[in-house]
Amino acid sequence: MEPPTLADVLDAQRLLAHHLPPTPTWNYPALDAAAGATVFVKHENAQPTGAFKVRGGITLLSRLDPAERQHGVVGYSTGNHAQSLAYAARLFGVPCTIVMPERPNPAKADAVRRLGAELVEFGATFDDAAPHARALAAERGMRLVSAADEPDIVAGVATAYAELFAQQPHLDAVVVPVGSGSGAAAACLVAAALAPECEVIAVQAAASPAAHDSWRHGELVRRPNRTAVEGLATGSGFALPQRVLRERLADFVLVDDEQIAAAQRRLLLDAHTLAEGAGAAALAAVLADPDRFAGRRVAVVCTGGNASEAELRRCLHVAPPAAERPWEVAAAQ
Ligand SMILES: *Cc1c(COP(=O)(O)O)cnc(C)c1O
Repeated sequence: MEPPTLADVLDAQRLLAHHLPPTPTWNYPALDAAAGATVFVKHENAQPTGAFKVRGGITLLSRLDPAERQHGVVGYSTGNHAQSLAYAARLFGVPCTIVMPERPNPAKADAVRRLGAELVEFGATFDDAAPHARALAAERGMRLVSAADEPDIVAGVATAYAELFAQQPHLDAVVVPVGSGSGAAAACLVAAALAPECEVIAVQAAASPAAHDSWRHGELVRRPNRTAVEGLATGSGFALPQRVLRERLADFVLVDDEQIAAAQRRLLLDAHTLAEGAGAAALAAVLADPDRFAGRRVAVVCTGGNASEAELRRCLHVAPPAAERPWEVAAAQ
């Protein structure tokens, strides 16, 4: 399986122009002040499904052959790959079955059903849902669609980075949250061609470090998968994206769920942006390492906005940093 080329990405861009408008990239002074850097937010939360993955779903579904279209597709996902496939399947009239771990984010599960896909709940995590999806696909003669080991998905997702580098050509770094690694691999491929001076930095949740550890070890590894942050919750590395990341990624960092919740809150307050946890992880990585990013021009990809109500309540109850509470500091003196 070969990674897509820049020509494949441009081809996907031509296709997606018929289906999705470009998403904006905005700078917010309040966020710059919090980060000590010039921060650009790439708003993939503004996609119709609330996450960047729809770029990959539409690209892959558009390229199925007639037999595959007729038999349909199966995907497994904690939610956003599911919505992407369901959205694209409805667009092209393709049957779609989704396997989600049990007790999924209700916002994501409802969205998948409303898009007309069949939803099967199975297993405790993403990694339990995967073999069940594989078995279902084999039994029904449907095409199993991996979250990342799919060149068409990576090519579709890469259009976000073609847009980003056209919107902000002079970036020092772009920070991309990782679950399977399709987004980070896509960023690497496009940066190599369009912005070779821009570092691509990946971030995963410390409680689910499989992609991070796979990159550090140079081989695919399995790891405990305990983060509550859905988009980042994978238990093993994916071959295609890891291959690209090994060649081109500048660095891979980890943040904990608490730091992610604090960054979600920052996006709400400083950028009037509703991000799900995964959509705030890139900002969390910037806030976690102020020395590294001080004074630099850095893009954070807000990959998605599909937060459940419980998740939103949680992030608003994260204690604000002391600097935000001068009245308490004054009282203590
Ligand atoms: C899937 C997802 C990610 C991780 O992307 P990968 O391409 O799987 O690494 C990040 N954020 C959100 C919102 C997602 O849905």
